[in-house]
Amino acid sequence: MIVFVSVILKEIFEQGRKYVWERPATCVKCNHHKVWSHEFVQRLFDGFDTFLLLKSYRCPNCGCVITLRPDSHFTRIQTSKETIRSRLSCRLQTGRWPPDTPFPRQRHWLKNLRRRIKALLTEAWSHGEIAAFDHFISIGQTPVSSSI
Ligand SMILES: [Zn+2]
Repeated sequence: MIVFVSVILKEIFEQGRKYVWERPATCVKCNHHKVWSHEFVQRLFDGFDTFLLLKSYRCPNCGCVITLRPDSHFTRIQTSKETIRSRLSCRLQTGRWPPDTPFPRQRHWLKNLRRRIKALLTEAWSHGEIAAFDHFISIGQTPVSSSI
């Protein structure tokens, strides 16, 4: 299970295992009063040429493993939410892809966003694709996820 936390990636990069993570107060699954330190998981993020170590905790009651993840990023995506949003915004406004992010990746995001809009929003959705992006975030979904 993933719990999103507010962290600064650069600090995690610099401090590695010494970075002080905030332990979840209770288990997010069974609400047990204490979770134990578990292991570090390696995850890639844009802007770093090596894995960053994210902390996980384990609930002694239900066995649930809780991994902390930066709230600046979606699950399973290396690029930050803000960067994805700004790249899509630029493409939709200017008709061109910003050159600083690989084109196939950007096209993939837009394709997935459009698939999700078509599949999940009503035909009456008239607020535009960036508003849909924000809407999916507001309901806890990844707007550019390939799974619907
Ligand atoms: Zn639990």
